[in-house]
Amino acid sequence: MLEKAQNSNLHINLLCASLITIGILLPDFYLGYIAKILTCTIPIMTFLGVLGFSVLLSFIKNRYLLVLVVGLLILTQTVQINHWAYFGAPIHSHDISKVFFELDEIFQTGSALTFQLWRVWLVEAASIGTVIFGVWITKNRNRNKFAWIPLIIVLSITPVLSHLKGPAAFYTKPTSSTIYNTTRAFSDWVVNSSRKVKSPDYKPYSISYRTPKVRNVVLIMGESLSSRYMHLYGYSQPNTPYLDSLKNDPNFAFSKGVSSSVSTITSLQLFFNTFRNPGHTSLIRKKEANLFRLAKHQGYKTFVISAQNEKLFHDTGIEFVDHFGSEKDIHENLANKGDEALIDSLQILTLSDKNFIVIHLRHIHTPFDTYTKHHPELGYSKEVHKDRASQAQQEYSNAILYHDYWVKQCIAMIQKLLPQDTVIFFTSDHGQLLGERSLYGHNLMEPEVSDVPVWSYCINTQPTHLASLKNQIISHYDLAKHIGGLMGATITNPNENSTHQFVHSSEIYTNYQFMPWKKEHGKVVFFDKEWVCKLTAK
Ligand SMILES: [Zn+2]
Repeated sequence: MLEKAQNSNLHINLLCASLITIGILLPDFYLGYIAKILTCTIPIMTFLGVLGFSVLLSFIKNRYLLVLVVGLLILTQTVQINHWAYFGAPIHSHDISKVFFELDEIFQTGSALTFQLWRVWLVEAASIGTVIFGVWITKNRNRNKFAWIPLIIVLSITPVLSHLKGPAAFYTKPTSSTIYNTTRAFSDWVVNSSRKVKSPDYKPYSISYRTPKVRNVVLIMGESLSSRYMHLYGYSQPNTPYLDSLKNDPNFAFSKGVSSSVSTITSLQLFFNTFRNPGHTSLIRKKEANLFRLAKHQGYKTFVISAQNEKLFHDTGIEFVDHFGSEKDIHENLANKGDEALIDSLQILTLSDKNFIVIHLRHIHTPFDTYTKHHPELGYSKEVHKDRASQAQQEYSNAILYHDYWVKQCIAMIQKLLPQDTVIFFTSDHGQLLGERSLYGHNLMEPEVSDVPVWSYCINTQPTHLASLKNQIISHYDLAKHIGGLMGATITNPNENSTHQFVHSSEIYTNYQFMPWKKEHGKVVFFDKEWVCKLTAK
């Protein structure tokens, strides 16, 4: 009899869970799809996850636990949604403490922006109301005294992963849901705060503005490309026939490059923020010298088209990007034709009078032998080597041959779309180890991983823009400053007090290792590695 009564109440649990789900996802639905104030979406996995979580909540017997979980959900989501609506990007765990210490300022700013944020607050009130209403009117639902066990397990998944994987694994994803970003940011905040190192006391950068020197800047950010395996830079195999053909073109310049980091996500973050000094993370928080920000200030329309996961653009300043497209937007086309899909995306951009376009490649990420399926007519080497290093180098060289073909198509398309006053820059996020000292891959703090190409090509503009790039050693930092300068924003970093520059490790918020280096007689000279805590201890 009792069992029957319990079963008959299951539909009430379902009603409760549905209302909680609607409440949680309402802000994303309204602000993301209808008002388009946030860039968020509701992926199907998020929907199912929230629904499952809500079902669990509906079975909780302990009233205090229920109030605690629902209360935390409301509090964290309120912080997230307001932050996102105001700044244009999901909250980062580093900014969470600020929310609690600067409440006065936040209330003042919030009230001054009522006319902009009222819809956000209205939908939040509706969201909170729906969750509370859902719990309130379903008092007859079934409860289970053990339901807290799976609930606690579910709640600890992200914090545990955060602990195991470290802060860098939980970067924000601006086109995912608010709840996805909230669980990650807050888990990282709770779990990893003690590991983080305070930014040393660096002086702020200063930016001086003048009329932009060029109307269009296109930056192609490559993937895992090391210059020492490119024929253009002297490698034995003829794997860059197109780039070789530009060698004597006055509109073309190339140099040896040094990347700012050894991982994709960190290199992008450091590059777009013109980052130089070890541990200078406050620069990233404040976006003082962020290239997208400077571009917007100078009247450029800003674009990012990436063949990779949007998460890699965490903290690169995409709140200053007018059009952001990532792998998930062109998934099918990428699967069919590889990175040539990016050229299709480029073709359909709604360009403006002045444009700053970033094209982010997927090739030549591992596995290198996958690229030879594209354009077999390029004549890839089919040689098979017994030792791992030679085989890896052969496959890598083939991938570079594909890359060279891609570059040719891309430049042709840019010439068509932006035939006047355009400068194209190319560099790679980081390089690659291919058996040097029996090491492979990237992410390792080894000099070869920072070896990247830097080249530039001018289309109907003054080739003098390239003078400073010819036969030089150009770091990501140098290149970012150069690009800022072309857009009319001169970046001055008062902390540039020595000839040294730095390659940073993949994790920049903890006590990380960095590699100092300097330019000497046309060569890059590396010094002993150091740790950031030594700088902060001073
Ligand atoms: Zn990469």
